[in-house]
Amino acid sequence: MTDTAPQQFNFKAETRQLLHILIHSLYKDREVFLRELISNASDAINRLRFEMLTTQDVLDPKADLKIHITADKENGTLTITDTGIGMTREEIIDHLGTIAQSSARKFMEAAKDKSVDASGMIGQFGVGFYSVFMVADWVRVTSRSFRPDAQAVTWYATGDDSYEVGAAEMTERGTRIEIKLKEDAAEFAEEYRVKNIVNKHSDYIGFPIYIGAEEKPVNKQTSLWRTARNEVKEEDYKDFYRQTTLDFEDPLLHIHMVTDAPVQLYALLFLPAKSERNMFSLRKDDGLKLYSRNILIDEYNKDLLPEYLRFVQGVVDSEDLPLNVSRETVQSSGLMPKLKKVLTNQVIKELESLAKKDVEKYNSFWSEFGVYLKQGVAASPADTETITPLLRFKTNLQPETWSSLEEYASRMKDGQKVIHYIVGEDSKSVLRSPHLDSFHAKGLEALLLTEPMDSFMLMGLRKFKDYELKNVAGAEVDGEDQPRAESEAEKIPEGDFNSLVERFKQVLGERVADVRASRRLVTSVARLVDADANSNPDLQRVYKYLGREYEIPKKVLELNSSHEILKNLLKLDAGSELGNIVIEQIFDSALLVEGIHPDPSSMAPRVQQLIEAALAGK
Ligand code: ADP
Repeated sequence: MTDTAPQQFNFKAETRQLLHILIHSLYKDREVFLRELISNASDAINRLRFEMLTTQDVLDPKADLKIHITADKENGTLTITDTGIGMTREEIIDHLGTIAQSSARKFMEAAKDKSVDASGMIGQFGVGFYSVFMVADWVRVTSRSFRPDAQAVTWYATGDDSYEVGAAEMTERGTRIEIKLKEDAAEFAEEYRVKNIVNKHSDYIGFPIYIGAEEKPVNKQTSLWRTARNEVKEEDYKDFYRQTTLDFEDPLLHIHMVTDAPVQLYALLFLPAKSERNMFSLRKDDGLKLYSRNILIDEYNKDLLPEYLRFVQGVVDSEDLPLNVSRETVQSSGLMPKLKKVLTNQVIKELESLAKKDVEKYNSFWSEFGVYLKQGVAASPADTETITPLLRFKTNLQPETWSSLEEYASRMKDGQKVIHYIVGEDSKSVLRSPHLDSFHAKGLEALLLTEPMDSFMLMGLRKFKDYELKNVAGAEVDGEDQPRAESEAEKIPEGDFNSLVERFKQVLGERVADVRASRRLVTSVARLVDADANSNPDLQRVYKYLGREYEIPKKVLELNSSHEILKNLLKLDAGSELGNIVIEQIFDSALLVEGIHPDPSSMAPRVQQLIEAALAGK
């Protein structure tokens, strides 16, 4: 074998499988293959530019940065050439012989699910380089790396099990991809068709794309974020968002900023409509794209916004970043905290104004991303004050709509000094909680905190304005919440009540810390409260969610001394079996509504006994 003889390699099994799907796919929007190749070309130029920030020791340092497409109708070929970073022999084998860690891999995972039509998903996944085999009889990639001493290399494949790699003649830096189009893909050798595809999918590629002999690039090529706001149409923002994220839905909001002080920056940020990145998304990670003077420095920068705003997508570009930056020096440059501050303030400001201007939209934002902000309250105490006005809650009085703390405060009763909240599993069961008995009776309002993140949030959110936040499960709700005006006549006389308390203590024994009368209950017969006024039920929940071993501390059982059930209980003989069962069940029901019953189904036999007794008319 001579040096120049091409060498054969076999594709990995996974790649073969992918090629098989692509070659046989009946996918109707095959045009996306061009989007993928242009995107690779643009990445390659970006990477070259990045290298050139620190070294001029590259092949053709003065070469124009551009993408060129030639369509040859006669021969049914399409050629895409870029002046990017290029590939060495090792790199071409590495990168084009195996499926890159990219959406192609996700596609393969989804394609394994036989119930879905894989070919229907190609466009959504962006399967990368290999998508060319939807339209190609064969593909030849010729490349010359930017490294001055590298040799040109060629890669050839027809989409079957193997590919060839050999030496090539190529004097300029970059990559050329020649495609021999399948007969049924001849349309892609038409210049007008190619132009259409570029405009549709690749308008915002930052480098000029030339077609054929045209002297003007076909793509807009503008950095939309550097375009004056009054020149950008709503539709442009949406297009940009779609082309750069492949999200199906329009963004909820875009933020286009240009500032000169305290830092120079251009930013174009988006709030997605949905919190879950769809599986097809081009964005593989959180973070913003960071450019320095229009050069991409970092694809996923996480230092430009606080963690609790990590759902924000988009681009940040600054003239103030030093030109010879590397990703590492960006991190340590003093500029980053400044950028972060400006961006964070702006996002918060826009959210506040959205909340004022378009309540419905804001609520839809809140439903998707509220949990991030709650996490922010828990994790960044310094930001609590900033985030608090953005928080929204359901309450016992307004269980269907979202209220801000400001709105809650405006509805507070005269003399009310604290903000009440109740914590529980879901809003239905908390609305039924005995802790809210007197709230319902008096029209008092409590926040319903039913998400796991709420318990974490409470660790950071103890006050709003001058109002402390207070859990209604505490023994007393002081101040405004006076005990209801009960007529003494309704109450069980003290002596009787004390003997009742003794009976409860006897039956429940060690399981309760105490049994006593409640001043808060109206319709419920009993409730559980914490024995220690200083114990923190919210923290107990946090432990529970963190999966920490912990024992629920024993609680105090409070009884409603006016309740019919207790009056009737008094009529039973002390120590009667039915009386004991009733006491057990009252306790179990209280555990249940508290969401801390260790074994709810254990109640079934007892409930049956109670039904039998009821039916027997006892
Ligand atoms: P992805 O772009 O998602 O990584 P692809 O299958 O499209 O996956 O490409 C695989 C790899 O091949 C790229 O990551 C890149 O390293 C290399 N590559 C593809 N096209 C080019 C190109 N035009 N110039 C340089 N390298 C390229």
